[in-house]
Amino acid sequence: MTKLPKVFLKELTKLLGRNAVLTETEDLLPYLKDERGLLESDCSLIIRPKTTGEISETVGLCAKHRVPVVPLGGNTGLVGGGIASGGVILSLEKLNRIIHIDTLNHTMTVEAGCILANIQKAADEAGCLFPLSLGAEGSCQIGGNLSTNAGGVGVLHYGNARDLVLGIEVVLPNGLIYENLKALRKDNTGYDLKQLFIGAEGTLGIITKAVLKLYPRPRAFATILVALEELDEILSLFDLTRATCGDKLKAFELIPRLALELEVAHIPGIRDPFTEKHAYYALLELTSPRQEDDLRGEIETVLEQALNNGVISDALIATSQAQASQLWKMREEIPAAQSIEGGSLKHDVAVPVSKSVEFIKKATQLVMAEMPGVRVCAFGHVGDGNIHFNLTQPLGIDKKSFLKKQKVFNHIVHDLVVGMNGSISAEHGIGLSKRDELCFYASKIEIDLMRQIKVAIDPHNQMNPNKIVLFDSP
Ligand SMILES: Cc1cc2nc3c(=O)[nH]c(=O)nc-3n(C[C@H](O)[C@H](O)[C@H](O)COP(=O)(O)OP(=O)(O)OC[C@H]3O[C@@H](n4cnc5c(N)ncnc54)[C@H](O)[C@@H]3O)c2cc1C
Repeated sequence: MTKLPKVFLKELTKLLGRNAVLTETEDLLPYLKDERGLLESDCSLIIRPKTTGEISETVGLCAKHRVPVVPLGGNTGLVGGGIASGGVILSLEKLNRIIHIDTLNHTMTVEAGCILANIQKAADEAGCLFPLSLGAEGSCQIGGNLSTNAGGVGVLHYGNARDLVLGIEVVLPNGLIYENLKALRKDNTGYDLKQLFIGAEGTLGIITKAVLKLYPRPRAFATILVALEELDEILSLFDLTRATCGDKLKAFELIPRLALELEVAHIPGIRDPFTEKHAYYALLELTSPRQEDDLRGEIETVLEQALNNGVISDALIATSQAQASQLWKMREEIPAAQSIEGGSLKHDVAVPVSKSVEFIKKATQLVMAEMPGVRVCAFGHVGDGNIHFNLTQPLGIDKKSFLKKQKVFNHIVHDLVVGMNGSISAEHGIGLSKRDELCFYASKIEIDLMRQIKVAIDPHNQMNPNKIVLFDSP
Protein backbone atom coordinates (compact mmCIF):
# COMPACT_ATOMS: atom_id res chain seq x y z
CA MET A 1 0.00 0.00 0.00
CA THR A 2 1.16 3.54 -0.71
CA LYS A 3 2.75 5.13 2.38
CA LEU A 4 1.77 8.62 3.52
CA PRO A 5 4.18 11.19 5.04
CA LYS A 6 4.52 10.65 8.84
CA VAL A 7 4.17 14.35 9.57
CA PHE A 8 0.86 14.42 7.67
CA LEU A 9 -0.49 11.54 9.75
CA LYS A 10 0.59 13.25 12.94
CA GLU A 11 -1.07 16.55 12.04
CA LEU A 12 -4.22 14.75 10.86
CA THR A 13 -4.59 12.76 14.08
CA LYS A 14 -4.09 15.93 16.08
CA LEU A 15 -6.79 17.65 14.05
CA LEU A 16 -9.48 14.94 14.09
CA GLY A 17 -8.58 12.63 16.97
CA ARG A 18 -7.69 8.93 16.71
CA ASN A 19 -11.23 7.63 16.24
CA ALA A 20 -11.71 9.54 13.01
CA VAL A 21 -8.56 8.08 11.42
CA LEU A 22 -8.57 4.39 10.47
CA THR A 23 -5.27 2.67 9.68
CA GLU A 24 -5.72 -0.97 10.78
CA THR A 25 -6.16 -3.40 7.87
CA GLU A 26 -9.42 -4.90 9.19
CA ASP A 27 -10.88 -1.39 9.65
CA LEU A 28 -9.89 -0.37 6.12
CA LEU A 29 -11.29 -3.41 4.32
CA PRO A 30 -15.00 -2.40 4.14
CA TYR A 31 -14.02 0.82 2.34
CA LEU A 32 -11.57 -0.56 -0.21
CA LYS A 33 -13.56 -2.82 -2.55
CA ASP A 34 -16.14 -1.46 -4.95
CA GLU A 35 -19.78 -2.60 -4.96
CA ARG A 36 -19.22 -5.31 -7.58
CA GLY A 37 -15.99 -6.55 -5.98
CA LEU A 38 -14.10 -5.95 -9.24
CA LEU A 39 -11.86 -3.03 -8.18
CA GLU A 40 -9.82 -2.43 -5.03
CA SER A 41 -8.29 0.76 -3.64
CA ASP A 42 -4.62 1.12 -2.86
CA CYS A 43 -5.07 3.18 0.29
CA SER A 44 -3.76 2.93 3.85
CA LEU A 45 -5.90 5.60 5.51
CA ILE A 46 -9.62 6.23 5.87
CA ILE A 47 -10.75 9.54 7.38
CA ARG A 48 -14.19 10.01 8.93
CA PRO A 49 -14.71 13.67 9.84
CA LYS A 50 -17.94 14.81 11.52
CA THR A 51 -18.47 18.39 10.32
CA THR A 52 -17.95 20.61 7.31
CA GLY A 53 -15.34 22.50 9.35
CA GLU A 54 -13.38 19.28 9.96
CA ILE A 55 -13.58 18.37 6.28
CA SER A 56 -12.40 21.82 5.31
CA GLU A 57 -9.36 21.60 7.63
CA THR A 58 -8.63 18.00 6.57
CA VAL A 59 -8.75 18.81 2.87
CA GLY A 60 -6.60 21.90 3.49
CA LEU A 61 -4.05 19.69 5.24
CA CYS A 62 -4.14 17.18 2.38
CA ALA A 63 -3.58 20.04 -0.07
CA LYS A 64 -0.60 21.27 1.97
CA HIS A 65 1.02 17.82 1.85
CA ARG A 66 -0.17 17.10 -1.71
CA VAL A 67 -2.09 14.04 -0.55
CA PRO A 68 -4.95 13.15 -2.93
CA VAL A 69 -8.45 12.74 -1.46
CA VAL A 70 -11.18 10.38 -2.66
CA PRO A 71 -14.63 11.18 -1.19
CA LEU A 72 -16.72 8.11 -0.38
CA GLY A 73 -20.45 7.89 0.28
CA GLY A 74 -22.31 4.60 0.58
CA ASN A 75 -19.87 2.87 -1.82
CA THR A 76 -22.68 1.59 -4.05
CA GLY A 77 -21.34 3.30 -7.19
CA LEU A 78 -20.95 1.00 -10.18
CA VAL A 79 -18.10 2.67 -12.09
CA GLY A 80 -15.20 2.71 -9.59
CA GLY A 81 -15.57 6.41 -8.71
CA GLY A 82 -14.70 5.71 -5.06
CA ILE A 83 -11.52 3.75 -5.81
CA ALA A 84 -8.32 5.36 -4.53
CA SER A 85 -4.87 4.95 -5.97
CA GLY A 86 -2.76 6.19 -3.07
CA GLY A 87 -3.80 9.14 -0.90
CA VAL A 88 -6.74 8.95 1.51
CA ILE A 89 -10.39 7.99 1.35
CA LEU A 90 -12.63 10.50 3.10
CA SER A 91 -15.86 8.86 4.20
CA LEU A 92 -18.90 11.10 4.65
CA GLU A 93 -20.71 8.60 6.90
CA LYS A 94 -20.51 10.76 10.05
CA LEU A 95 -22.17 13.75 8.38
CA ASN A 96 -25.60 12.24 8.66
CA ARG A 97 -27.93 14.87 10.15
CA ILE A 98 -31.18 16.06 8.67
CA ILE A 99 -30.80 19.72 9.48
CA HIS A 100 -34.14 21.29 8.65
CA ILE A 101 -37.45 20.56 6.95
CA ASP A 102 -39.53 23.50 5.72
CA THR A 103 -42.89 22.01 4.74
CA LEU A 104 -44.28 25.31 3.46
CA ASN A 105 -41.27 25.89 1.22
CA HIS A 106 -41.22 22.17 0.40
CA THR A 107 -37.50 21.88 1.09
CA MET A 108 -35.20 19.87 3.28
CA THR A 109 -31.62 20.69 4.26
CA VAL A 110 -29.42 17.67 4.91
CA GLU A 111 -25.83 16.65 5.47
CA ALA A 112 -24.22 14.75 2.62
CA GLY A 113 -23.73 11.48 4.49
CA CYS A 114 -27.46 10.93 5.09
CA ILE A 115 -28.60 7.56 3.74
CA LEU A 116 -31.16 8.11 0.97
CA ALA A 117 -33.79 5.89 2.66
CA ASN A 118 -33.52 7.97 5.86
CA ILE A 119 -34.17 11.13 3.84
CA GLN A 120 -37.22 9.54 2.19
CA LYS A 121 -38.50 8.50 5.64
CA ALA A 122 -37.99 11.93 7.19
CA ALA A 123 -39.79 13.57 4.26
CA ASP A 124 -42.65 11.09 4.61
CA GLU A 125 -42.97 11.74 8.36
CA ALA A 126 -43.24 15.45 7.54
CA GLY A 127 -46.12 14.69 5.14
CA CYS A 128 -44.00 15.17 2.00
CA LEU A 129 -42.15 13.12 -0.60
CA PHE A 130 -38.49 13.13 -1.55
CA PRO A 131 -38.83 11.27 -4.84
CA LEU A 132 -35.30 10.03 -5.59
CA SER A 133 -35.57 6.24 -5.42
CA LEU A 134 -33.16 3.49 -6.47
CA GLY A 135 -32.26 -0.09 -5.64
CA ALA A 136 -29.35 0.94 -3.39
CA GLU A 137 -31.39 3.46 -1.36
CA GLY A 138 -30.83 1.59 1.92
CA SER A 139 -27.08 2.24 1.75
CA CYS A 140 -26.25 4.99 -0.76
CA GLN A 141 -25.86 8.55 0.59
CA ILE A 142 -27.35 11.75 -0.75
CA GLY A 143 -23.83 13.16 -1.32
CA GLY A 144 -23.07 10.15 -3.53
CA ASN A 145 -26.44 10.51 -5.28
CA LEU A 146 -25.76 14.13 -6.12
CA SER A 147 -22.15 13.46 -7.09
CA THR A 148 -23.29 10.79 -9.56
CA ASN A 149 -26.46 12.66 -10.57
CA ALA A 150 -28.34 9.46 -9.77
CA GLY A 151 -31.43 8.51 -11.76
CA GLY A 152 -33.54 5.60 -10.51
CA VAL A 153 -37.22 4.84 -10.90
CA GLY A 154 -38.80 8.28 -10.44
CA VAL A 155 -37.02 10.15 -13.25
CA LEU A 156 -39.98 10.05 -15.63
CA HIS A 157 -42.01 12.17 -13.23
CA TYR A 158 -39.51 14.04 -11.03
CA GLY A 159 -36.22 14.15 -12.98
CA ASN A 160 -32.67 13.12 -12.02
CA ALA A 161 -30.89 14.01 -8.78
CA ARG A 162 -29.76 17.30 -10.30
CA ASP A 163 -33.40 18.33 -10.75
CA LEU A 164 -34.08 17.82 -7.05
CA VAL A 165 -31.53 20.25 -5.60
CA LEU A 166 -31.86 23.94 -4.78
CA GLY A 167 -28.60 24.53 -2.95
CA ILE A 168 -25.36 22.87 -1.90
CA GLU A 169 -22.32 23.36 0.27
CA VAL A 170 -18.97 22.10 -1.03
CA VAL A 171 -15.45 21.86 0.38
CA LEU A 172 -13.16 22.79 -2.50
CA PRO A 173 -9.83 21.04 -3.22
CA ASN A 174 -7.92 23.81 -1.42
CA GLY A 175 -10.06 23.41 1.72
CA LEU A 176 -12.19 26.56 1.22
CA ILE A 177 -15.95 26.21 1.63
CA TYR A 178 -18.33 27.21 -1.17
CA GLU A 179 -21.65 27.73 0.58
CA ASN A 180 -24.90 28.16 -1.31
CA LEU A 181 -27.64 26.71 0.86
CA LYS A 182 -30.35 29.06 -0.37
CA ALA A 183 -33.70 27.31 -0.57
CA LEU A 184 -34.82 29.27 -3.64
CA ARG A 185 -36.77 28.12 -6.66
CA LYS A 186 -35.71 31.20 -8.57
CA ASP A 187 -32.16 32.54 -8.48
CA ASN A 188 -30.69 33.86 -11.71
CA THR A 189 -27.42 35.23 -10.39
CA GLY A 190 -24.86 34.21 -12.96
CA TYR A 191 -23.50 30.72 -13.60
CA ASP A 192 -25.34 27.97 -11.74
CA LEU A 193 -22.26 26.80 -9.85
CA LYS A 194 -24.01 24.11 -7.83
CA GLN A 195 -24.74 22.17 -11.01
CA LEU A 196 -21.01 21.97 -11.71
CA PHE A 197 -20.49 19.87 -8.59
CA ILE A 198 -23.56 17.69 -9.18
CA GLY A 199 -22.50 14.76 -11.35
CA ALA A 200 -18.80 15.65 -10.90
CA GLU A 201 -18.19 12.36 -9.01
CA GLY A 202 -16.12 14.09 -6.34
CA THR A 203 -13.52 15.40 -8.81
CA LEU A 204 -14.17 19.09 -8.07
CA GLY A 205 -14.86 19.07 -4.32
CA ILE A 206 -16.69 17.34 -1.51
CA ILE A 207 -20.42 17.99 -1.19
CA THR A 208 -21.12 18.42 2.52
CA LYS A 209 -24.73 19.69 2.63
CA ALA A 210 -27.66 20.12 0.26
CA VAL A 211 -31.07 21.74 0.08
CA LEU A 212 -33.45 19.25 -1.52
CA LYS A 213 -36.85 19.78 -3.13
CA LEU A 214 -39.82 18.06 -1.54
CA TYR A 215 -43.12 17.21 -3.24
CA PRO A 216 -46.66 16.52 -2.07
CA ARG A 217 -46.84 12.99 -0.66
CA PRO A 218 -48.74 10.61 -2.93
CA ARG A 219 -51.95 9.34 -1.36
CA ALA A 220 -53.20 7.09 -4.16
CA PHE A 221 -51.07 4.36 -5.78
CA ALA A 222 -51.36 1.70 -8.44
CA THR A 223 -48.64 -0.81 -9.32
CA ILE A 224 -49.23 -2.85 -12.44
CA LEU A 225 -47.37 -5.67 -14.19
CA VAL A 226 -48.21 -6.03 -17.86
CA ALA A 227 -47.29 -9.00 -20.07
CA LEU A 228 -46.37 -8.47 -23.74
CA GLU A 229 -45.21 -10.74 -26.55
CA GLU A 230 -43.59 -8.17 -28.87
CA LEU A 231 -40.94 -5.65 -27.82
CA ASP A 232 -42.36 -3.08 -30.30
CA GLU A 233 -45.57 -2.97 -28.29
CA ILE A 234 -43.87 -1.62 -25.19
CA LEU A 235 -43.75 1.87 -26.69
CA SER A 236 -47.40 1.67 -27.77
CA LEU A 237 -48.28 0.83 -24.16
CA PHE A 238 -46.11 3.68 -22.87
CA ASP A 239 -47.72 6.13 -25.27
CA LEU A 240 -51.24 5.00 -24.43
CA THR A 241 -50.62 5.17 -20.67
CA ARG A 242 -49.12 8.65 -20.84
CA ALA A 243 -51.92 9.90 -23.08
CA THR A 244 -54.53 8.59 -20.62
CA CYS A 245 -52.89 9.02 -17.22
CA GLY A 246 -50.61 11.97 -17.98
CA ASP A 247 -48.21 12.88 -15.23
CA LYS A 248 -49.62 10.29 -12.86
CA LEU A 249 -47.37 7.75 -14.57
CA LYS A 250 -44.36 7.74 -12.25
CA ALA A 251 -42.39 4.73 -13.44
CA PHE A 252 -42.33 2.62 -16.58
CA GLU A 253 -39.84 -0.24 -16.46
CA LEU A 254 -39.01 -3.10 -18.82
CA ILE A 255 -38.35 -6.67 -17.62
CA PRO A 256 -37.52 -9.35 -20.21
CA ARG A 257 -38.44 -13.02 -19.78
CA LEU A 258 -34.79 -14.01 -19.22
CA ALA A 259 -34.59 -11.70 -16.18
CA LEU A 260 -37.66 -13.29 -14.61
CA GLU A 261 -36.35 -16.80 -15.29
CA LEU A 262 -32.99 -15.98 -13.66
CA GLU A 263 -34.78 -14.51 -10.64
CA VAL A 264 -37.10 -17.51 -10.25
CA ALA A 265 -34.01 -19.74 -10.37
CA HIS A 266 -31.81 -17.75 -8.00
CA ILE A 267 -33.76 -15.33 -5.79
CA PRO A 268 -35.81 -16.78 -2.93
CA GLY A 269 -39.40 -15.55 -2.87
CA ILE A 270 -39.67 -14.67 -6.57
CA ARG A 271 -42.24 -16.62 -8.60
CA ASP A 272 -43.66 -16.12 -12.08
CA PRO A 273 -46.78 -14.03 -11.36
CA PHE A 274 -48.62 -15.24 -14.51
CA THR A 275 -49.72 -18.75 -15.40
CA GLU A 276 -48.51 -18.38 -19.01
CA LYS A 277 -44.97 -17.50 -20.14
CA HIS A 278 -44.59 -14.09 -21.79
CA ALA A 279 -41.69 -12.57 -23.71
CA TYR A 280 -41.65 -9.18 -21.95
CA TYR A 281 -43.13 -7.44 -18.94
CA ALA A 282 -43.66 -3.77 -18.18
CA LEU A 283 -43.81 -2.61 -14.59
CA LEU A 284 -45.83 0.60 -14.18
CA GLU A 285 -46.47 2.78 -11.18
CA LEU A 286 -49.11 5.49 -11.02
CA THR A 287 -49.38 7.90 -8.11
CA SER A 288 -51.44 10.91 -7.20
CA PRO A 289 -51.48 13.26 -4.20
CA ARG A 290 -55.32 13.02 -4.18
CA GLN A 291 -56.59 9.99 -2.32
CA GLU A 292 -59.92 10.07 -4.16
CA ASP A 293 -58.25 9.68 -7.59
CA ASP A 294 -59.33 6.40 -9.13
CA LEU A 295 -55.97 5.24 -10.48
CA ARG A 296 -57.18 1.67 -10.75
CA GLY A 297 -60.09 2.79 -12.92
CA GLU A 298 -57.78 4.86 -15.13
CA ILE A 299 -55.29 2.07 -15.67
CA GLU A 300 -58.06 -0.46 -16.29
CA THR A 301 -59.24 1.73 -19.17
CA VAL A 302 -55.71 1.71 -20.61
CA LEU A 303 -55.30 -2.05 -20.17
CA GLU A 304 -58.67 -2.81 -21.74
CA GLN A 305 -57.81 -0.74 -24.79
CA ALA A 306 -54.34 -2.30 -25.00
CA LEU A 307 -55.81 -5.82 -24.75
CA ASN A 308 -58.39 -5.09 -27.44
CA ASN A 309 -55.70 -3.68 -29.75
CA GLY A 310 -53.44 -6.67 -29.22
CA VAL A 311 -50.74 -4.53 -27.59
CA ILE A 312 -50.63 -6.62 -24.41
CA SER A 313 -51.57 -10.16 -23.53
CA ASP A 314 -52.18 -10.04 -19.77
CA ALA A 315 -51.89 -7.72 -16.76
CA LEU A 316 -52.22 -7.71 -13.02
CA ILE A 317 -52.83 -4.80 -10.69
CA ALA A 318 -51.41 -5.10 -7.17
CA THR A 319 -54.17 -5.28 -4.58
CA SER A 320 -51.99 -4.61 -1.53
CA GLN A 321 -48.78 -2.84 -0.59
CA ALA A 322 -47.17 -6.25 -0.08
CA GLN A 323 -48.07 -7.30 -3.62
CA ALA A 324 -46.77 -4.00 -5.02
CA SER A 325 -43.46 -4.51 -3.17
CA GLN A 326 -43.26 -8.04 -4.55
CA LEU A 327 -43.62 -6.70 -8.10
CA TRP A 328 -40.92 -4.10 -7.45
CA LYS A 329 -38.69 -6.83 -6.03
CA MET A 330 -38.99 -8.51 -9.41
CA ARG A 331 -37.49 -5.39 -10.98
CA GLU A 332 -34.83 -4.67 -8.35
CA GLU A 333 -33.35 -8.17 -8.06
CA ILE A 334 -32.41 -8.53 -11.74
CA PRO A 335 -28.70 -7.58 -11.30
CA ALA A 336 -28.38 -9.93 -8.29
CA ALA A 337 -29.93 -12.83 -10.24
CA GLN A 338 -27.59 -12.14 -13.16
CA SER A 339 -24.54 -12.16 -10.90
CA ILE A 340 -25.51 -15.53 -9.43
CA GLU A 341 -26.06 -16.97 -12.91
CA GLY A 342 -22.45 -16.19 -13.89
CA GLY A 343 -20.48 -13.57 -15.80
CA SER A 344 -22.43 -10.45 -16.61
CA LEU A 345 -21.36 -7.47 -18.71
CA LYS A 346 -23.23 -4.22 -18.11
CA HIS A 347 -24.07 -1.28 -20.35
CA ASP A 348 -25.96 1.59 -18.74
CA VAL A 349 -27.00 3.51 -21.84
CA ALA A 350 -29.62 6.03 -22.97
CA VAL A 351 -31.25 6.74 -26.31
CA PRO A 352 -34.32 8.83 -27.08
CA VAL A 353 -37.36 6.94 -25.72
CA SER A 354 -38.74 6.66 -29.26
CA LYS A 355 -35.59 4.74 -30.31
CA SER A 356 -35.27 2.44 -27.32
CA VAL A 357 -36.87 -0.60 -29.01
CA GLU A 358 -34.85 -0.10 -32.18
CA PHE A 359 -31.72 0.10 -30.03
CA ILE A 360 -32.45 -3.11 -28.12
CA LYS A 361 -33.20 -5.02 -31.33
CA LYS A 362 -30.12 -3.82 -33.21
CA ALA A 363 -27.80 -4.24 -30.23
CA THR A 364 -29.14 -7.77 -29.66
CA GLN A 365 -28.41 -8.73 -33.29
CA LEU A 366 -24.89 -7.31 -33.08
CA VAL A 367 -23.89 -8.99 -29.81
CA MET A 368 -25.38 -12.31 -30.94
CA ALA A 369 -23.33 -12.10 -34.12
CA GLU A 370 -20.21 -11.50 -32.02
CA MET A 371 -20.94 -14.35 -29.61
CA PRO A 372 -23.72 -16.79 -30.50
CA GLY A 373 -25.41 -17.96 -27.31
CA VAL A 374 -24.80 -14.77 -25.34
CA ARG A 375 -27.94 -14.07 -23.31
CA VAL A 376 -29.27 -10.53 -23.60
CA CYS A 377 -30.95 -9.15 -20.51
CA ALA A 378 -32.05 -5.65 -21.58
CA PHE A 379 -34.12 -4.13 -18.78
CA GLY A 380 -34.76 -0.95 -16.89
CA HIS A 381 -36.04 2.56 -17.18
CA VAL A 382 -37.42 2.36 -20.71
CA GLY A 383 -39.77 5.28 -19.95
CA ASP A 384 -36.61 7.44 -19.66
CA GLY A 385 -34.89 5.83 -22.66
CA ASN A 386 -32.39 4.34 -20.18
CA ILE A 387 -31.70 0.69 -20.92
CA HIS A 388 -29.47 -1.54 -18.82
CA PHE A 389 -28.26 -3.59 -21.77
CA ASN A 390 -26.71 -6.39 -19.74
CA LEU A 391 -25.26 -9.57 -21.16
CA THR A 392 -25.23 -12.88 -19.34
CA GLN A 393 -22.60 -15.40 -20.37
CA PRO A 394 -23.63 -18.21 -22.71
CA LEU A 395 -24.36 -21.52 -20.99
CA GLY A 396 -21.34 -23.72 -20.58
CA ILE A 397 -18.55 -21.23 -21.21
CA ASP A 398 -15.93 -20.07 -18.74
CA LYS A 399 -16.85 -16.91 -16.77
CA LYS A 400 -13.37 -15.38 -16.99
CA SER A 401 -13.08 -15.71 -20.74
CA PHE A 402 -16.54 -14.15 -21.10
CA LEU A 403 -15.66 -11.17 -18.88
CA LYS A 404 -12.49 -10.62 -20.93
CA LYS A 405 -14.76 -9.65 -23.84
CA GLN A 406 -15.97 -6.52 -22.01
CA LYS A 407 -14.11 -4.13 -24.32
CA VAL A 408 -15.30 -5.84 -27.48
CA PHE A 409 -18.94 -5.69 -26.35
CA ASN A 410 -18.53 -2.12 -25.08
CA HIS A 411 -17.47 -1.00 -28.51
CA ILE A 412 -20.32 -2.81 -30.24
CA VAL A 413 -22.97 -1.39 -27.89
CA HIS A 414 -21.50 2.09 -27.45
CA ASP A 415 -20.85 2.59 -31.19
CA LEU A 416 -24.51 1.87 -31.78
CA VAL A 417 -25.64 4.14 -28.92
CA VAL A 418 -23.50 7.05 -30.05
CA GLY A 419 -24.68 6.51 -33.64
CA MET A 420 -28.24 6.94 -32.34
CA ASN A 421 -27.34 10.18 -30.54
CA GLY A 422 -27.44 8.42 -27.19
CA SER A 423 -25.30 8.33 -24.07
CA ILE A 424 -22.76 5.70 -22.97
CA SER A 425 -23.62 6.44 -19.33
CA ALA A 426 -27.24 7.20 -18.55
CA GLU A 427 -27.14 7.24 -14.76
CA HIS A 428 -24.14 5.47 -13.23
CA GLY A 429 -21.50 8.03 -14.23
CA ILE A 430 -18.01 7.65 -15.65
CA GLY A 431 -15.64 7.11 -12.69
CA LEU A 432 -12.70 4.92 -13.63
CA SER A 433 -14.48 2.22 -15.57
CA LYS A 434 -15.79 4.42 -18.38
CA ARG A 435 -13.11 7.11 -18.44
CA ASP A 436 -11.36 5.87 -21.55
CA GLU A 437 -14.67 5.26 -23.29
CA LEU A 438 -15.73 8.85 -22.57
CA CYS A 439 -12.46 10.13 -23.95
CA PHE A 440 -12.99 8.04 -27.08
CA TYR A 441 -16.61 9.04 -27.75
CA ALA A 442 -16.81 12.65 -26.51
CA SER A 443 -15.78 15.47 -28.83
CA LYS A 444 -12.38 17.10 -28.30
CA ILE A 445 -14.12 20.31 -27.30
CA GLU A 446 -16.11 18.52 -24.59
CA ILE A 447 -13.03 16.84 -23.14
CA ASP A 448 -11.02 20.07 -23.32
CA LEU A 449 -13.77 21.99 -21.52
CA MET A 450 -13.99 19.34 -18.79
CA ARG A 451 -10.21 19.42 -18.31
CA GLN A 452 -10.20 23.23 -18.17
CA ILE A 453 -12.89 23.20 -15.48
CA LYS A 454 -10.96 20.58 -13.51
CA VAL A 455 -7.70 22.54 -13.74
CA ALA A 456 -9.44 25.80 -12.76
CA ILE A 457 -10.97 24.32 -9.59
CA ASP A 458 -8.36 21.70 -8.72
CA PRO A 459 -5.04 22.83 -10.24
CA HIS A 460 -2.98 20.24 -8.34
CA ASN A 461 -5.25 17.29 -9.15
CA GLN A 462 -5.94 16.68 -5.46
CA MET A 463 -9.58 15.71 -5.55
CA ASN A 464 -10.49 12.21 -6.75
CA PRO A 465 -7.69 12.35 -9.31
CA ASN A 466 -8.03 10.96 -12.80
CA LYS A 467 -11.69 10.04 -12.61
CA ILE A 468 -14.00 11.10 -15.47
CA VAL A 469 -11.07 12.58 -17.45
CA LEU A 470 -7.31 12.14 -17.13
CA PHE A 471 -5.76 15.25 -15.62
CA ASP A 472 -3.85 17.28 -18.14
CA SER A 473 -2.75 20.73 -17.03
CA PRO A 474 -2.32 23.35 -19.75
C1 LIG B 1 -28.47 -2.47 -6.34
C2 LIG B 1 -28.08 -1.16 -6.95
C3 LIG B 1 -29.01 -0.44 -7.66
C4 LIG B 1 -28.66 0.79 -8.22
N1 LIG B 1 -29.61 1.47 -8.92
C5 LIG B 1 -29.30 2.66 -9.44
C6 LIG B 1 -30.28 3.41 -10.16
O1 LIG B 1 -31.39 2.97 -10.37
N2 LIG B 1 -29.92 4.62 -10.61
C7 LIG B 1 -28.67 5.14 -10.40
O2 LIG B 1 -28.42 6.28 -10.83
N3 LIG B 1 -27.73 4.45 -9.76
C8 LIG B 1 -28.00 3.23 -9.27
N4 LIG B 1 -27.04 2.53 -8.61
C9 LIG B 1 -25.67 3.08 -8.48
C10 LIG B 1 -25.40 3.82 -7.16
O3 LIG B 1 -26.27 3.43 -6.15
C11 LIG B 1 -25.52 5.33 -7.37
O4 LIG B 1 -24.49 5.74 -8.24
C12 LIG B 1 -25.46 6.16 -6.08
O5 LIG B 1 -25.85 7.48 -6.39
C13 LIG B 1 -24.08 6.19 -5.44
O6 LIG B 1 -24.18 6.73 -4.13
P1 LIG B 1 -23.11 6.35 -3.00
O7 LIG B 1 -23.41 7.14 -1.79
O8 LIG B 1 -23.05 4.89 -2.82
O9 LIG B 1 -21.77 6.88 -3.67
P2 LIG B 1 -20.34 6.21 -3.72
O10 LIG B 1 -20.38 4.91 -4.44
O11 LIG B 1 -19.73 6.19 -2.38
O12 LIG B 1 -19.56 7.28 -4.62
C14 LIG B 1 -19.91 7.49 -5.96
C15 LIG B 1 -19.09 8.67 -6.51
O13 LIG B 1 -19.45 9.88 -5.85
C16 LIG B 1 -18.34 10.45 -5.13
N5 LIG B 1 -18.89 10.94 -3.87
C17 LIG B 1 -19.57 10.25 -2.91
N6 LIG B 1 -19.98 11.09 -1.94
C18 LIG B 1 -19.53 12.33 -2.27
C19 LIG B 1 -19.64 13.62 -1.68
N7 LIG B 1 -20.30 13.81 -0.55
N8 LIG B 1 -19.06 14.67 -2.31
C20 LIG B 1 -18.38 14.51 -3.47
N9 LIG B 1 -18.25 13.31 -4.07
C21 LIG B 1 -18.83 12.23 -3.49
C22 LIG B 1 -17.33 9.32 -5.00
O14 LIG B 1 -16.01 9.83 -4.96
C23 LIG B 1 -17.59 8.52 -6.27
O15 LIG B 1 -16.93 9.10 -7.36
C24 LIG B 1 -27.35 1.29 -8.06
C25 LIG B 1 -26.41 0.55 -7.34
C26 LIG B 1 -26.76 -0.66 -6.80
C27 LIG B 1 -25.73 -1.41 -6.01
